[in-house]
Amino acid sequence: MNGRVLLIGAGPGDPGLITVRGVEALGACDVVVYDHLVAAEILKHVKSGADLIYAGKQGGEHTLSQNDINELLVSRAQAGATVGRLKGGDPFVFGRGGEEALALVDAGIDFEVIPGVTAGVAGAAYAGIPVTHRELASAAALITGHETPDKDESDLDMDVLAKWPGTLAFYMGVKNLRRLCEGLLSHGMDGRTPAAVVRWATTPAQEAIVGTVADLPDLADRANVAPPAMIFIGPVVTLREKLAWFERRPLFGRRVVVTRARAQASSLSRWLRDRGADVMETPTIRIAPPEDPAPLREAIGRLETFDWVVFTSVNGVEGFFDELKRVGLDSRALQGCRICSVGPATSAGLGRNGITPDAQPAKFVTSEIAATMAAQGNLAGAHILCPRTDIAPPGLTADLAACGAEVCEVVAYRTIPDHGGIERLGELLDAGNVDWITFTSSSTVRNLLAGVPADRIIAGGARLASIGPVTSATMRERGLTPTIEADPHTVLALAEAILSIES
Ligand code: SAH
Repeated sequence: MNGRVLLIGAGPGDPGLITVRGVEALGACDVVVYDHLVAAEILKHVKSGADLIYAGKQGGEHTLSQNDINELLVSRAQAGATVGRLKGGDPFVFGRGGEEALALVDAGIDFEVIPGVTAGVAGAAYAGIPVTHRELASAAALITGHETPDKDESDLDMDVLAKWPGTLAFYMGVKNLRRLCEGLLSHGMDGRTPAAVVRWATTPAQEAIVGTVADLPDLADRANVAPPAMIFIGPVVTLREKLAWFERRPLFGRRVVVTRARAQASSLSRWLRDRGADVMETPTIRIAPPEDPAPLREAIGRLETFDWVVFTSVNGVEGFFDELKRVGLDSRALQGCRICSVGPATSAGLGRNGITPDAQPAKFVTSEIAATMAAQGNLAGAHILCPRTDIAPPGLTADLAACGAEVCEVVAYRTIPDHGGIERLGELLDAGNVDWITFTSSSTVRNLLAGVPADRIIAGGARLASIGPVTSATMRERGLTPTIEADPHTVLALAEAILSIES
């Protein structure tokens, strides 16, 4: 039986601008054929194991011809696959989605169109330009600024466009900018009509050049504007002065490297991105289950023998409860134990499992933990379980043992170095293109330095943000000086410290 093809709009650049339906559809596809302008991050919605085929074109260089693409869509669908055809912006706006849909109809293949947010509207919005406005524009036109090479004469009726009662949004027009502006002027458009070029709209690299139809070509030449860019012409462009919200966010244009295990990078990254930062996640560590689950299982089998269970990270919480569930138990198995939780993320993880901690040290350093627990009763002779990582520093066990406690430390998860993205980070550092690197644990320091040596980081001029004294000490031992240290030692305080320096 034939499969089907989903023509999916990916949005203009910001990976958050794909539709809910688009995300759902990507999760259902066996094959995804995607274009040059599709943000890499969007591809994470594709289910694992699906085929990813790049069909992009850049400049005039086509990886696959339009015919090849049509045939590919048809043949994979005929083989029974659900095929996603992922295009920048909206698939039916200058995306040749119409041609592809017609080829599918000819071949008798079922298809669906999932519209996207188009650059001509969203690019304007992110530049602070409403494409229509009650007083300034009662119409907006989506226009190609790129004449197909086999046409001697333009299809565009400049006479109509010069008199257009609203906004002109030209796609693919950067190379033709001068010709377009001259054409409009020679057909009677007022040279003072406001005009703008918006490049890489909706991404952290967004750049806008603003002028008039008369001077925009010179301004754009001087700024060396290259595709992808939209050209907007009309009185609404003046609103940008007041409405340019995106470029005014406090961390706009700052590149911040987040070195965390991928599973946890998202909250820090989201916070920074919401404030305009260009976040690069370099997951220097990855979380994995223990190689030998027996010690954790054994401890779980005798939870009633422990007075305290100490959780020092959300990964420890997750590893512990995963194993608890695996052996058919739930949080009630902890009823006889007091729980100590270190840090808000850890407490949140416990909360998700229905547990409110009995003790939460105000400072998240190992020396504070024993003191906080001892304040609730003598620890001499107490049995304490610590589910931790395979590479946990020995300080906590030593502190608790010094209070006379019997400590049972078990591996609840492993922390594994992960070098994905390190190469690109090295290149960006060499180009002086990294503003901040965040370190949220000693292992992120060690693992990052295993991929990029300290002198390359220093030479790159990046500023360094540390989550707390233990991490800072690890950095100093290896030749890195933290620019800031978070206080309290949380991811949020780390992010806020960066913001306070930048704004
Ligand atoms: N289907 C797409 C348009 C494809 S044509 C859509 O609906 O948006 C490619 C042109 O779109 C580029 O040459 C440029 O003019 C415009 N474009 C796409 N993404 C853009 C972006 N992030 N910033 C500025 N222009 C963009």
